[in-house]
Amino acid sequence: MTQDLATETRALLASLGVDPARLDGGSLAVRSPITGETLAHVRETTLAEADREIGRAAQAFRTWRQVPAPRRGEFVRLLGEELRRAKADLGRLVSIEVGKVLSEGLGEVQEMVDICDFAVGLSRQLQGQCLPSERRDHRLTEQWHPAGPVGVISAFNFPVAVWSWNAALAFVCGDSVIWKPSEKAPLTALAVSALVARACAAFGDEAPDGLATLIIGARDVGEALVNDARVPVISATGSTRMGRDVGERVARRFGKSILELGGNNASIVTPSADLDLTLRAVAFGAMGTAGQRCTTLRRLLVHESVYDALLPKLSAVYAGIKVGDPREEDTLVGPLIDADAFEAMKRALDAARTAGGRVHGGDRIDINGAESFYVRPALVEMTEQVDCVREETFAPILYVLRYSTLEEAIAIQNDVPQGLSSSIFATDVREIEQYLSATGSDCGIANVNMGTSGAEIGGAFGGEKETGGGRESGSDSWKAYMRRQTNAINYGRSLPLAQGVKFDV
Ligand code: NAD
Repeated sequence: MTQDLATETRALLASLGVDPARLDGGSLAVRSPITGETLAHVRETTLAEADREIGRAAQAFRTWRQVPAPRRGEFVRLLGEELRRAKADLGRLVSIEVGKVLSEGLGEVQEMVDICDFAVGLSRQLQGQCLPSERRDHRLTEQWHPAGPVGVISAFNFPVAVWSWNAALAFVCGDSVIWKPSEKAPLTALAVSALVARACAAFGDEAPDGLATLIIGARDVGEALVNDARVPVISATGSTRMGRDVGERVARRFGKSILELGGNNASIVTPSADLDLTLRAVAFGAMGTAGQRCTTLRRLLVHESVYDALLPKLSAVYAGIKVGDPREEDTLVGPLIDADAFEAMKRALDAARTAGGRVHGGDRIDINGAESFYVRPALVEMTEQVDCVREETFAPILYVLRYSTLEEAIAIQNDVPQGLSSSIFATDVREIEQYLSATGSDCGIANVNMGTSGAEIGGAFGGEKETGGGRESGSDSWKAYMRRQTNAINYGRSLPLAQGVKFDV
């Protein structure tokens, strides 16, 4: 089935307010993984232009930080309204540009709306604290100030939601935002930028020019942002390779980085698990978004007493799942992003076979011709956690291993370089609590009776070890977008020094 995706894409972009002139004549060819066809040729930002855009953002910050935080919240409320109105079109565009099934494309936009709502409330709660002073007639307080322009580098697989997790918080915190989207997904970024422009127009003059800027391109453009000392905070989402480079560069100039990198997430299926629920959760966690989520379930550790009951059912679900064009309603698994992703999947499966793994599925399926890459998700039975299992392969591969004690399962789970998400399926409260304790899961996210993916925006999102240690979205993640200031205020007439030090002159 081949439809003219380019025409549909252009109509969606026009309705979202993108200038058609931005879609032709550039060197960056944007292709849809659905058919492999080229949708547009977008112009990349030159390094001189990136420098100017960062300058504009720095100028905008100086004005924006003076706008009262609840007014900044009003701006984010208007942005949320634009996103609500645009949900159908933007969700479809996400689906076309990165190949997600439509409900996941729409879900991604809903996540943007949710974080805007969260940030509106937050704009009245950026509270500091008052601490007891050891000195008479002194007050000791702590307050939070806007940090400066925030650079956001995003990955292809959540082309718009990741920007919003950062930007909605940054805006209410008083920061301007410079966005470097994935070079694989510049169209959705152009669309979001057009919606931000509408929100700015509705908000009026208080929204400075340069509050939200967009720089398009590959690694070199990202590096220009990362190296620029005018940008005190860099939030980077992508591979661990990218994060290692970005983290080092930002640290060298004493900037702050929020790193959201690769995951290698595991679920443990215990003897007391509800197996029907487990089966559904595992299917979504491992095969949803064609295995291209940072939180995708990649390793399933199954207790030896339930292994033989679970595996045949899981194999049947894998064999029967509908892989197809994500525009079709009943499709659950869409395409891989590109040929490189397919090659990486093939290499990982070959390595698993060599290491003695039994591979079920994983074959390429011809859905929309040679330029698109659809695969049947792979289930791989392994006898031990070899090197290929320890790596994140960004494709639908689920490695399954047996275990006999919970201590052993936790040790296997934690014995990987990454530390993003994890979960346990159990109804035994002792096993659940052991898993959630300090000696249990070492991940930033540890769930019970659900999969590893599909986080809500209300919690802090991120992970440990090679996942980078950053936190975004809910809870007190906003603090990363502000600078902390401690204030000691003497309202007396004497000058007592702390720690009883004497210095009389
Ligand atoms: P990627 O690392 O190839 O690219 C991510 C972004 O970084 C792109 O915008 C890219 O242009 C930019 N970039 C790459 N090298 C750079 C450098 N040296 N300096 C500055 N910018 C640079 O990742 P991808 O293939 O787009 O996405 C998949 C990866 O992202 C997976 O590893 C996945 O787990 C991870 N991811 C993590 C999270 C999370 O929250 N932890 C969320 C989504 C994706």
